[in-house]
Amino acid sequence: MKLTILSIIISISGSVLAQDFTLPELRFSYDAYEQGIDAQTMEIHHSKHHRGYVRKLNNAVAASKLEGKSLVDLLMYASYRSTAVRNNAGGHYNHTLFWEILTPSTSTTAPEAMKNQLERAINKTFGSLENLRKELSAAAAKRFGSGWAWLVVTPNKELVVSSSPNQDNPIMDVSDVRGIPILGIDVWEHAYYLRYQNKRGDYLSAIWSLLDWGVVSQKYAVALSDPLLLRIERENWPQMNAFHKVLAQTFHAAEKGDFKPVRELSGGLYAKSILLQDSDIPKSLLKPEVVSALTRLEKKCGSLQKLVSKNAKNKNIMKSLSSVHDIFHEVQGLCHD
Ligand code: MN
Repeated sequence: MKLTILSIIISISGSVLAQDFTLPELRFSYDAYEQGIDAQTMEIHHSKHHRGYVRKLNNAVAASKLEGKSLVDLLMYASYRSTAVRNNAGGHYNHTLFWEILTPSTSTTAPEAMKNQLERAINKTFGSLENLRKELSAAAAKRFGSGWAWLVVTPNKELVVSSSPNQDNPIMDVSDVRGIPILGIDVWEHAYYLRYQNKRGDYLSAIWSLLDWGVVSQKYAVALSDPLLLRIERENWPQMNAFHKVLAQTFHAAEKGDFKPVRELSGGLYAKSILLQDSDIPKSLLKPEVVSALTRLEKKCGSLQKLVSKNAKNKNIMKSLSSVHDIFHEVQGLCHD
């Protein structure tokens, strides 16, 4: 008897500890958005589609043993995740943002609800709110098939309009434009088909009258000082990632006594170190120590390549490869200060 109670307690606390993702409430009732989106669409979109993303996300996270990871972590490394995690983490994040920025209240859909800070940034970047509307609508209209149109704050703290397919979004490492989205428009047919059928343009005009500029302004202010911007900037350095990949392949094998990878790939490693040294260093990492370490890294990779081409002994190759590895970690350390 005691054992049964104990196992019930364990199973209950187990499911509580897993901290499943949950479906957020809408801010208003399903029929409150009628001026732009009919009640049935809102209800199906929220209670069926979004609920489905949340349920499948929880299943996919459990299947990939990623319990406890934050939604942002799941998105940031989307290219390393299963398709189910990528699609459903995106689906959950994107729709949560979408519900937050929609309102039927005319007091906040009016451009006057916009805070000065956002208004200035929009005018500086796009010339006017009307131009932003045109750019966003064009991005949404041009998105082939299903996807989203975004207003994004980039790591340079600039505003950019972009779009992405399926449930991808700008936080993901697979995205062309990266940053924090502060406004997203769902252009999946499930978002508009009941009322607008194939007329995506009419839906986009209607959506414009539901955007809550008070909330978007708040999201802009929060995004500007969000540490996530810095994370995105630093990890969005393709030449560094490419170098790291080859170094990992060669160094760890050599440590275990297998010198085949380093003998085969030392030329590739040297080439990657040259590309790395020539690459655009992320702005926040642009310091003399990093620049000089990258130069030393390239030189060391050149020496390693020479040793390999002279068919040097494993012992000497290991010594050279270790110094490449040390400098690489020095760079990494400088990048995380
Ligand atoms: Mn949707």
